[in-house]
Amino acid sequence: MADFDLVILGGGSGGYACALRSAQLGLSVVLIEADKLGGTCLHRGCIPTKALLHAGEVADSARDAAHFGVNAEFHSMDMVAVNAYKDGVISRLHKGLQGLVKSRNITFVQGHGRLVSKDTVEVNGERYTGKNVVLATGSYARTLPGLEIDGVRIITSDHALTLDHVPARVIVLGGGVIGCEFASVWKSFGSDVRIIEALPHLVALEDESTSKQLERAFRKRGINFELGVRFASASQSDAGVKVTLEDGKEFEADLLLVAVGRGPVSANLGYEEQGLAMERGYITVDNKCRTSVPGIWAVGDLIPTLQLAHVGFGEGILVAEEIAGLNPQPINYDGVPRVTYSDPEVASVGLTTAQATARGHDVVELSYDLAGNGKAQILRTAGSIKLVSQKGGPVIGIHMVGARVGELLAEAQLIYNWEASADDVAPLIHAHPTLSEAMGEAHMALAGKPLHAHG
Ligand SMILES: Cc1cc2nc3c(=O)[nH]c(=O)nc-3n(C[C@H](O)[C@H](O)[C@H](O)COP(=O)(O)OP(=O)(O)OC[C@H]3O[C@@H](n4cnc5c(N)ncnc54)[C@H](O)[C@@H]3O)c2cc1C
Repeated sequence: MADFDLVILGGGSGGYACALRSAQLGLSVVLIEADKLGGTCLHRGCIPTKALLHAGEVADSARDAAHFGVNAEFHSMDMVAVNAYKDGVISRLHKGLQGLVKSRNITFVQGHGRLVSKDTVEVNGERYTGKNVVLATGSYARTLPGLEIDGVRIITSDHALTLDHVPARVIVLGGGVIGCEFASVWKSFGSDVRIIEALPHLVALEDESTSKQLERAFRKRGINFELGVRFASASQSDAGVKVTLEDGKEFEADLLLVAVGRGPVSANLGYEEQGLAMERGYITVDNKCRTSVPGIWAVGDLIPTLQLAHVGFGEGILVAEEIAGLNPQPINYDGVPRVTYSDPEVASVGLTTAQATARGHDVVELSYDLAGNGKAQILRTAGSIKLVSQKGGPVIGIHMVGARVGELLAEAQLIYNWEASADDVAPLIHAHPTLSEAMGEAHMALAGKPLHAHG
């Protein structure tokens, strides 16, 4: 006889979302967490990085104040105060989440758990048995072979979030989302920043036109980068860290941030022993997050889907609803919105042009330049909205660059996920003057009736 309907291992985005939805559906739940409820996203990921990015935006606003006729000056960053602001945000959200879990009658167990049989997790010598076990142990910051993280000169995002000073010179190894966000933060804080990326572009998973625009914008901001070249080695001295690339170039800095991706937390937790199918450490699942062992499910960064908090939420909810017998739709991962919160922001949903072409779609594209948008002029931001559409059919990709474009994703994802065509969106009136007008204008232009567009 099982003690619980669900035993959930890991209280991050995937695990706690599954717990909340399961409890809402009347299931009994135990949620086991070794560290803090909320996991990476709340304590070491989404929330703290966005707080730092916002502090950077305020710093840049002070620097640029004269452009808007405001007499203000940027002096320096006070990292003690920045961290207090950031930690205050985390702490309020953490308290709120703890209250939420308590109010739903979820049994919360603090401790390091291990899967000891197909239906049981052991924590602090106690055993918790469930009709279902949900694994949600998340991910950790990876490094490269031979590159040792010392937490002082060579650091990961975990250390970068608690720095008590602004480094004068930083090298960011990895030009993906996390690398670009930290490069943006430190540039705003006043550091000299250089990104090193082995692939030919920054944010290489995005549409190529997006990467090129971000590269232009970063260059304009004075963020340096080396693309298409691999890291060879790093050595430390009292003065800092020296990085050598495979093309022989050398760069020195006070700090090296290693942002080369995240790996699954799956070792020594009993997963292999219970016969779970795994690939490169990730647990493999079907489209309902079922593992190869009946009754065991896995969600979030532990499985090889997009490593995003809202994907973890979605997978956690999916599993809860499947267990409760609601037979939910599998997740369409192409329809998941993606944002890089750098300055400028990058936001997208759906397919890139290259993906759409590779999948055999007859593609038409349209790029609307934000220069024609009143609000973008007011904000003094540059960028664009690019639509990828099936010829005579639905819009299958929306790719944006510019200040605050992450906020436009709400509409973009509805357009993509409801399979709207340019003709469906063009007649919708957008409020003036908002950035969202650019979304309307792009669809009007694609539908053959451009309004504020030249040529
Ligand atoms: C710097 C950074 C910035 C990010 N920014 C964003 C963003 O802006 N937007 C976004 O959507 N995503 C962002 N992410 C990604 C996001 O944080 C992750 O996708 C998300 O946290 C994954 O959720 P999860 O539940 O799978 O894992 P996690 O959040 O990592 O949670 C796993 C939990 O399991 C616990 N655990 C592990 N092993 C055990 C064990 N044996 N026993 C008990 N507990 C255990 C851990 O302590 C942890 O709390 C960012 C990540 C980083 C690192």
